[in-house]
Amino acid sequence: MNRVILIKYGELTTKKGNRNFFINTLYQMILKKLKNYDVKISKDISRMYIEFNDNEIDSILDRINHIFGIHTYQVAVKIDSNEDVINQAVIDYVYDKSFKTFKIEVKRSDKTFPISSMDYAKKLGGIVLKNKDNIKVDVHNPEMLLKVEILDRYTYIYSDTFYGLGGYPVGTQPKAMLMLSGGIDSPVAGYLTMKRGVKLDAVYFEAIPHTSIEARNKVIDLTRKLSVYTDKINLHIVNFTQIQEAIYKNCNGDYTITIMRRMMYRIMERLAKRYKGLVIANGESIGQVASQTLTSMSVINEVTNMPVIRPVACLDKLEIIDIAKKIDTYDISILPFEDCCTVFVPKHPVINPCLNECLFNEEKFDYNKMIDDVLKNIETIVIKEDDNEFSNFL
Ligand code: ATP
Ligand code: MG
Repeated sequence: MNRVILIKYGELTTKKGNRNFFINTLYQMILKKLKNYDVKISKDISRMYIEFNDNEIDSILDRINHIFGIHTYQVAVKIDSNEDVINQAVIDYVYDKSFKTFKIEVKRSDKTFPISSMDYAKKLGGIVLKNKDNIKVDVHNPEMLLKVEILDRYTYIYSDTFYGLGGYPVGTQPKAMLMLSGGIDSPVAGYLTMKRGVKLDAVYFEAIPHTSIEARNKVIDLTRKLSVYTDKINLHIVNFTQIQEAIYKNCNGDYTITIMRRMMYRIMERLAKRYKGLVIANGESIGQVASQTLTSMSVINEVTNMPVIRPVACLDKLEIIDIAKKIDTYDISILPFEDCCTVFVPKHPVINPCLNECLFNEEKFDYNKMIDDVLKNIETIVIKEDDNEFSNFL
């Protein structure tokens, strides 16, 4: 008797023309995420089937729970579609389950099976009652709903249905370039972006010696947490020190953050073109800080035509924190190492910046040359969930 995980695609099924592409992308992702396990994976138009080794079930389910594009799944018993075999399998199935009331539902896709679904459900109900004490049938609100699906060759028996993460499989959309700081918001933004099927590269702006190696390691750890939801993430590290120092030396103090962020966006666009990202994604949230008022966002966004995806733009901090805890990035994010934005934060950052003032200040130093220099020295680390070391330099 084998056990098998049955996977339902959910939102995928709404994609009529693209359905096969979506299913294949999910299939490839599951293959990659389970490559170190003893599994046999197959698929049809409505479901995916994963046969597994019983010893590995917990770890496999943990992986399944981190893959986008899975709506629901069940862990089922797989047997031959033969009445005697099914009867015995149902007896075995309920043997160590504890419940007081139950119902059996039979779905017979194989019409050559000799008994109708209704009659067989009744018959199986009788068999269960005979083989287990102190239980009764409740067709309206059973504690255990046992489903028996009879297909032409095999039959599946299961009771619990679990929710997967939903969303679309990563890889059904092209790539976004995620601005990943060590804060709480940007990992959540990365998670939500991937949930829509988008591939990610992450970009971290570092200002050593003003920021520490611990701050960088934090971002590496956050990237690894995000990589659990995909196969790998390239983390590009930008040496931002020279540009930041030039901003603080040359520009109006109140505008330093606004201008710094305009520089970040300019670099993001260049990196996106280099690494084939179609959009920028970040953790900006409307009104959270001076640089995230709508006026600030529009003045900052003015440097690029590239779409900027801001998945947490309309969430409260507490809602963002809830997701951060769920995806296990929160504890890393609250480690106290300073990031380049916090190191240089001015006393009175401008809340309603004016574009002309930005342009005026930016003329005071040759930022184009500095950006060219920065782009010559990008350090890229490929991060995969299973790697403990970050030695995987491109
Ligand atoms: P987070 O928003 O991730 O909690 P934060 O609050 O320190 O971190 P903000 O100042 O709110 O960052 O910046 C808004 C967004 O800009 C971040 O969510 C992130 O996407 C991006 N960002 C800020 N600093 C950096 C950085 N050093 N490297 C890459 N992206 C950054
Ligand atoms: Mg923030």
